[in-house]
Amino acid sequence: MIAAAGSGQRLGAGGPKALVELAGRPMIAWSLVALAAAETIERIVIAAPPGYEGQIEEAARGAPKPVEVVSGGESRAESVRLAMEVVGSELVAIHDAARPLLTPELIDRIVGRLARSEADGVIVAAPVADTLKRAGEGGSIRGTVDRVGLWSAQTPQVFRANVLRDAQRAARESGDLAAATDEAWLLERAGGMVLLEEAEISNLKVTTAADVAIAEALLARRSTGT
Ligand code: C5P
Repeated sequence: MIAAAGSGQRLGAGGPKALVELAGRPMIAWSLVALAAAETIERIVIAAPPGYEGQIEEAARGAPKPVEVVSGGESRAESVRLAMEVVGSELVAIHDAARPLLTPELIDRIVGRLARSEADGVIVAAPVADTLKRAGEGGSIRGTVDRVGLWSAQTPQVFRANVLRDAQRAARESGDLAAATDEAWLLERAGGMVLLEEAEISNLKVTTAADVAIAEALLARRSTGT
């Protein structure tokens, strides 16, 4: 599943981020290429920004696997929950359209790891490399957070679909769903076991215009094999 229903406000491109052109294609098309090439992916569901479903369908046209587009919700977690309604598989991989450098190997690796384990999910994440500061009043530093054992969560994230649905339902009933910035958190709060898989360095998230330039440079390097 691709979460692509964001408004793209921070990028400031005047439309949804998933449709912003990146190295000659709409950003979402790069994730679709990777998912189409992944051996473990049978079918793709996309949560589209309401009103842009047709343009997302257009961007997905010609994909060699079945694609279904649904309307997303007000928060990322709500978009994923709505898309889960049409997922029929036992395992589901969730990916943000904002990470266009996804590779088929990464998807297949985490799906394979989940299938071989007893866990409820496996997520791609990176050990925190920077020194972390907690901000105080007026832009001052209030303290330094020990980064040992801290990882930043990325996508793709893969889960047992029924366990994820139960966790989404529980969060929705307690009014916490919109606050979830990833699906792993929903499982954590429900007592589930989720494993960390170290990210590839290139699995960058596109948030700003500078990120677009970096992602384009990485995609160009990939196509020339350097
Ligand atoms: O806003 P941010 O870049 O963190 O969003 C992460 C991903 O979640 C993006 O791919 C975006 O399209 C998606 N999203 C969504 N529904 C929302 C908000 C964001 O599918 N309501």
